[in-house]
Amino acid sequence: MSSYKQLEPFFDEPARLQIRNDFSSKCVLCKEHLKPGEGHCVPLLNAHKTYLKCLKGFYTKLSMPRDARNGLYACQLCAHNWLMGTDDKRGLAAFIPCEPLMVYALHALNLASDVDEASRSQTLDELFYDLANDPDATPERRKAAPFLYCYQLFPVRAKPSTSNLDSPVLSVHPSPLTYIKEGDSVDGSRSGSDDAQPVKGLNTYCIIEHDSNTGTATSKRMSLYRQLVCEDNDAVTTLWRLPMRAPGLFFGYADAAVASKSSNPAFMRLHFKMRFGRGLPVGYRMQGVPSDDKAFA
Ligand SMILES: [Zn+2]
Repeated sequence: MSSYKQLEPFFDEPARLQIRNDFSSKCVLCKEHLKPGEGHCVPLLNAHKTYLKCLKGFYTKLSMPRDARNGLYACQLCAHNWLMGTDDKRGLAAFIPCEPLMVYALHALNLASDVDEASRSQTLDELFYDLANDPDATPERRKAAPFLYCYQLFPVRAKPSTSNLDSPVLSVHPSPLTYIKEGDSVDGSRSGSDDAQPVKGLNTYCIIEHDSNTGTATSKRMSLYRQLVCEDNDAVTTLWRLPMRAPGLFFGYADAAVASKSSNPAFMRLHFKMRFGRGLPVGYRMQGVPSDDKAFA
């Protein structure tokens, strides 16, 4: 992985301005509004290793690493502690497509197993693009579609079993929220108002929306190793809706960064399917992507 000193100046000024604009000047993680010069641009396609992961897994159609489409916008605390790390420490977590989306992607790839090469070589981005274009065709699509572009946080390291240290806690600024119970369609409570309440029951998700309007909902505090649940309700899992970047890019970043992949069975199953279970000929390669020597020249 590249060093912190290489990652901080990764993007040139036009790309940094574009990234800031894409994220409406707000931190991707804690949603703090940042003044010009306060934000850090976190590269997702940050190293040769990540490039190869994306290429071999057919996760996303790659662009040049320093393209703004590969950058997240974050406050210093989230960039240094959570997402990018520094030379002294690695980031705590990576975004991955939320579990309902990973379950759907595995289902779609299994359906494609008996179809042609083009279907079996679809990127994760193409699977979700297809879902967005036809969200109602099957029960599986109807179940997954409300979660399009939603991500959960994946701890980079497994929870230390012998440590008595408290799990790191993330504080999220007031933001528009949507509550969805898995298996239902959107319940209509999407709002930045105080009347947005969780749906009772297990597998309920609280989605922090990307909207630029600041909501009046209260701030959220989430702990890293408790599945990042909202602390006022253990059954609610927090997700971030991030429609500005390619899902496959997040998956490739996590594939390269996360040391404890086995702690998430859905990620492991989808990872194995995309890397080794597509049934493609040996040497089959994604077309139309920059070569790695050009990408990291
Ligand atoms: Zn932040």
